[in-house]
Amino acid sequence: MALRLDNLPNAQVNPMANDCLFCKIANGDIPARKLYEDEELVAFWDIAPQAPKHFLVIPKKHLSGPAAVDTDDEALAGRMLRKGAQLARENGVESFRLVFNEGAEAGQTVFHLHLHVLGGRALAWPPG
Ligand code: AMP
Ligand code: ZN
Repeated sequence: MALRLDNLPNAQVNPMANDCLFCKIANGDIPARKLYEDEELVAFWDIAPQAPKHFLVIPKKHLSGPAAVDTDDEALAGRMLRKGAQLARENGVESFRLVFNEGAEAGQTVFHLHLHVLGGRALAWPPG
């Protein structure tokens, strides 16, 4: 049988995933206030919200950030966008911002791909 990387635990696909906070949330090793979960995605409320409604959508697969999204991950990344928009509306937010940070200078602090969904107040542009 062919070796399928997607059948292996995260740690075997990417050794960094062992120490990854969001892998641990995805695995259930660290608790989070989840608002959605399926076989590929988890959404949970941000622990330090920057807006009245602020949650994160992550893939269960460890990817370090948006620049690590490969051709094989395009459908997964698209599902993150659609699920973020759907959950925003389901949580009473019609106007919202979707943000991916890549790199420390852009504000990335957790190096597991995540989509911020922010809403519930007027949001300034450009962002800081
Ligand atoms: P970023 O700065 O784009 O890497 O975003 C990381 C986000 O994760 C921040 O908004 C944090 O507040 C949030 N965060 C960090 N730890 C947790 C946690 N344990 N549960 C929920 N959100 C978290
Ligand atoms: Zn991870």
